[in-house]
Amino acid sequence: MGMDDCLFCSIVRGEIPADIVAEGESWLAFRDIQPQAPVHVLVIPREHVEGVGSLDAEHAALAADMLLAAAEVARIEGVAQSGYRVVTNVGERAGQSVFHLHVHVLGGRRMRWPPG
Ligand code: AMP
Repeated sequence: MGMDDCLFCSIVRGEIPADIVAEGESWLAFRDIQPQAPVHVLVIPREHVEGVGSLDAEHAALAADMLLAAAEVARIEGVAQSGYRVVTNVGERAGQSVFHLHVHVLGGRRMRWPPG
C-alpha cells in the first residue's frame, strides 16, 4: 500500500476527518475511532513510514519525536501521573491493521501485562 491509498496519509492531508488532540511539525495525534481505554490516542508521523521495522537512521529525529509526542499527549489528556501505555504493533500477527507507523497512547484505566 502506497501513500495514495493509505488511510493515515489521507488524515494527514485532511481528506478524512480526525479528532486531533495535538500536532507537531513532523507528527499528528488524534483519537482512535475504536477506543480501547478512556484515553486512546494515535500518534503518527506526517511522513509515510510503514512501521517501526521500516525506520532507518535517517528517521532518528522522527522516531524521537514520536515518543516525545506520546508523552505530550499523555500530559494533555491528563494521564501522565496516573500512568499510560505507549505501544506500536508491527506486522499483522502482532495486531497491526494500518500500515502507516502509529504509536498508541492508552490510559485512564489499569493496564494488564502481558497483553494478549
Ligand atoms: P493497529 O491495529 O495497531 O494497526 O492500530 C490501528 C488503529 O487505527 C486501530 O486501533 C483502529 O481503531 C484505528 N483506526 C482505524 N481507522 C481510523 C480512523 N479513521 N480514525 C482513527 N482511528 C482509526
